[in-house]
Amino acid sequence: MANSKDLFTRAKKIIPSGINSPVRYYDPYPFFVKKAKGGTMWDVDGNHYLDYCNAYGALLLGHRRKEIIADVTKQMDKGTLYCAPTEIEVSLSESISGNFPSMKKIRLVNTGSEATMTAIRLARGFTKKKKIIKFEGCYHGAHDYVLVEAGSGAAHIGMSVSEGSLDEVSQNTLVVQYNNSQELQSLLEKENDIAAVIVEPVLANMGLVLPEKNFLNDLRKMTAEKNIVLIFDEVVTGFRMSPGGAQKYFSITPDITTLGKALGNGFPIAAVGGKSEIMDMLSPEGKVYQASTYAGNPISVSAGLSSVKTMNKLKTKLYPKLEKNCAKLVSAIHDLASDMKIPHQINSISSMFQIFFTDESVVNYSSAKKADMIKFKKLFEALLKNGVFIAPSQFETVFLSYAHSKDDITETITAYEKALRAVKQ
Ligand code: PMP
Repeated sequence: MANSKDLFTRAKKIIPSGINSPVRYYDPYPFFVKKAKGGTMWDVDGNHYLDYCNAYGALLLGHRRKEIIADVTKQMDKGTLYCAPTEIEVSLSESISGNFPSMKKIRLVNTGSEATMTAIRLARGFTKKKKIIKFEGCYHGAHDYVLVEAGSGAAHIGMSVSEGSLDEVSQNTLVVQYNNSQELQSLLEKENDIAAVIVEPVLANMGLVLPEKNFLNDLRKMTAEKNIVLIFDEVVTGFRMSPGGAQKYFSITPDITTLGKALGNGFPIAAVGGKSEIMDMLSPEGKVYQASTYAGNPISVSAGLSSVKTMNKLKTKLYPKLEKNCAKLVSAIHDLASDMKIPHQINSISSMFQIFFTDESVVNYSSAKKADMIKFKKLFEALLKNGVFIAPSQFETVFLSYAHSKDDITETITAYEKALRAVKQ
């Protein structure tokens, strides 16, 4: 790892903590990437890894999916940024709405953070109310409205509210336990200034936590009764759980949806969309402001259009393959850990899973935090040594991609076997 080590020494001198997003750091230094293809990444020291970090779920079709690279390459010959409208923006928005009928109107943005920021501002503008409710351990991006008891990197370092955020902002973000409809109900009885409830329909930023039977239905019912905007943050689940995301999977219709990650399969694009009467609040016709130089840029849009086309074309093969591989991995890992008598839980759904080293079911942030983090660290390190890269934190999810082959899955099971032995020691 000499080259990664040298690069990290250089990086630390010029980039805070040596990385450009907190979750990318782990002890003693991360590997630096040279290239990637399909389900594999290569580092600058000649090692290769089966990639289940999967750009935090973005690479549903794998690295460098051929149709996407071809369409983006074609677009590059025509220009990279116009800041004037294009036909492909219209086509992409139409296709997104075709997959997600609740997204009647759509704005394209660059990142999931921008999408959730816009969704919340829209909800406030539409309802003329002030506060929002989010759930403990859900992560909705790196902006002040939602960086309160957030999952992902913030949970990993145990941060409740980011320094530098205004109290006036975080005080207006109320937090409820995930899977606790009762707590939400009590809060809604006390508070009458709630503009929105924002939720990850499947929580993928605290490890993986599934919604309990009636949780999402309860949210839909309670918010509808009080004219509160229900925002499904489908940045992870959109296109991953089904062509129509978690809302299709669970048959629940939110008022606003945010998408990102798999929408661009490795290119920076995200979307916010929902009911026309809400979306029409956006400027210039409406009074809720949202803007970006790079929003709807033709490179990302061509990647998005190509991704959606490819995912839709492959869908009868894509989802069954992902689900089959995921179920196979999960059952093998569960059997291995059980045989080794390692207390554990595995939460899984569609093409996502996470293991927690604990006896207790993991249904919310507090049960996730009870898992043995030292054991998880050992698992991560041993997997890496054995050629498997997962996100380096208990508060993240393992993501499969369509590019992972049958042989990759077999190799991954062997790596988990070795890694679980290291955990056991
Ligand atoms: N929402 C969810 C559910 C996410 O997982 C993430 C990123 N992990 C975001 C929003 C923010 O997306 P981005 O990093 O593209 O800003």
